[in-house]
Formats: sequence, C-alpha cells, structure tokens
Amino acid sequence: MLDNARSHGLWELTAPPAPETSGLKGSIRVDTAIVGGGYTGLSAALHLAEAGANVALLEAVEIGFGGAGRNVGLVNAGMWVMPDVLGDVLGGDYGERLLELLGDAPKLVFDLIERHRIECEVERAGTLHCAVGLKGLRELEQRVAQWSRRGAPVELLNAADTAAKIGSSAYAGSLWDRRAGTIQPLAYARGLARSAVNAGAKIFTRSAVTSASAVSPLVPTVATVLREVPPGATAVGNPARVLHADVEARREDAAAKMGFSAYGVSQGDDFDVRLLLIPLQMG
Ligand SMILES: Cc1cc2nc3c(=O)[nH]c(=O)nc-3n(C[C@H](O)[C@H](O)[C@H](O)COP(=O)(O)OP(=O)(O)OC[C@H]3O[C@@H](n4cnc5c(N)ncnc54)[C@H](O)[C@@H]3O)c2cc1C
Repeated sequence: MLDNARSHGLWELTAPPAPETSGLKGSIRVDTAIVGGGYTGLSAALHLAEAGANVALLEAVEIGFGGAGRNVGLVNAGMWVMPDVLGDVLGGDYGERLLELLGDAPKLVFDLIERHRIECEVERAGTLHCAVGLKGLRELEQRVAQWSRRGAPVELLNAADTAAKIGSSAYAGSLWDRRAGTIQPLAYARGLARSAVNAGAKIFTRSAVTSASAVSPLVPTVATVLREVPPGATAVGNPARVLHADVEARREDAAAKMGFSAYGVSQGDDFDVRLLLIPLQMG
C-alpha cells in the first residue's frame, strides 16, 4: 500500500493482492457512480452490479485505503449504546428495525464471504466483551438481558469462565456474543473489490472525485457522467477537504445518482459534509 510499511501494517503484509485497477481516463457513462473504495462503496458496487446496474467506483488512493483497510477486524453485532437506548432515541419501530439490522450484520458479512469465497481469515467463534470491575459487569448484565429479550444468542460468562477462555484473570466476567467474529479487514475489502469486478463493476483507483454535478436535476435516471481526473488533482492526504470545498460550492446541483461513502468524507471538522451529502443522495 503506497510502499509505506507504516500505512496498513500487518494487514498489508498478509492480505491477498487487490484486483488490478487503474485510474479513470477520459469520460465514461454509468448508471451509478460510487465514491470511495471502502466497505460501503465496495459492497454497494458489488450488490448493484449483481443486480444488473452499470457501476463505476472511484477511489482516491487504493482499495481499502481508509478505515476498511486499517481497522481491528471485529465483525460486531450492534453498537456500543445499549439496545434499549436505540428504541428510546429512534422510537420503538425504528429502534427495533435498526437492532435487527445490526444483529444480522455479521451474518450478512459471513454470507458474503462464503458466497464469494473471500479469503480473509474469517473466524466465527463469536467475540467476548470483557468487563472491567463490577461496574463493567453490571453493564454487561444489562446488555445481555436486553439482547436476550430479543432472542439474540448472547451469554454472560463469570470471571472463571472468562479467564479460561482468554488466559487472564483480569476481568470480572464477559459477554459472549456468538453472532460476531473476526476477519482480516484489508483482505475482506480486497475480496469485495474482486467480487465486484467479477460481477461487472468498474473500479478506478488513484481517481479522486473532485466535483459532482447533476447531468439533469429533473431527470435523475440519466446516467452520471464521470469526468477525467487530471493528474495532480488527486487528493491524497486529505481527500475530504477537496470534496468538501467543491460540494459546498455546488450545493444545489450535486448529482442525485452519486453514492457517497459517508465515513470517508466525514472526518473531524468535515462532519457537515455528511449532513450535506446524505439528503442529496436520497433526493
Ligand atoms: C482504528 C479503527 C478501528 C476500527 N475497528 C473496527 C472494527 O473492529 N470493526 C468494525 O466493524 N469497524 C471498525 N472500525 C470502523 C470501520 O473501519 C469503518 O466503519 C469502515 O471502514 C467504514 O467503511 P467506509 O467504506 O464507509 O469508509 P472507509 O473505509 O474509510 O472508505 C472510504 C474511502 O473513500 C475514499 N475517498 C475519500 N474521499 C474520496 C474522494 N473524494 N474521491 C474518491 N475516494 C475518496 C478513501 O480513500 C477511502 O478508501 C474501525 C475504525 C478505525 C479507524
């Protein structure tokens, strides 16, 4: 990855190679343009291509260059907030629907890995959330109770059982979530990319998106035109800022058919970009 051993560490050393890609040259016409080659963009490209759409994905640097290629590899079910809190915040229906989606998320990932035979060191033994002290244990008890009410396969382990599993007696107990597991994150991203390409998606790397504009705001089904990205215009280092500047300037006519990988463009003080993009892409 960019010949920089400190960029993606062990993941880069042990991941199978990414499919061969090159930069976008000239202009192409597609049904859907996707910005960003992380999990969001790659999964969208794969699913859209499988559904028959003509898709192009544009990645500023390389596949998995962002969080997708650098994370811990935990395939978790749920969020850090307590399950019941989602219902309180979103309302009963939406809270439960989100919980169902989150609870099923590992299955979706593992099914994709199996279906596309993605080599990514997948482990499906579940994960342990370990409790630091009694306060931590009380919190896990609540979490187990709330997930169990929803039929999730979670279990509270006591200190001795936890120690037997992890070889350390430092914890007061743990939550064993059998839905979860681990993957090699960069290998997963590259595998998704390979599957997307096999399904017919076009992936362009070293192709930062520097502007987005509607071909015809009144006819959103018109194919999006991708312009050539001139050499030197790539936004390596801080792509979010380039996109930010451009989108802000064209707030009214950003293309409805552009799909944005929100995580990659919403870091730090660029958070407002996500607020700007999400309503636009739904419009
Ligand atoms: C340290 C760390 C540990 C984590 N651990 C876990 C974990 O264990 N389990 C878990 O589920 N999640 C974890 N996460 C979160 C996870 O990595 C992210 O949720 C995930 O990567 C988001 O995927 P994404 O595709 O939305 O964004 P990203 O993976 O960040 O991809 C965005 C891509 O867009 C590209 N891009 C940005 N701007 C442009 C542009 N203008 N033109 C073209 N391309 C552009 C970037 O180069 C990047 O490749 C962790 C995150 C971090 C930082």
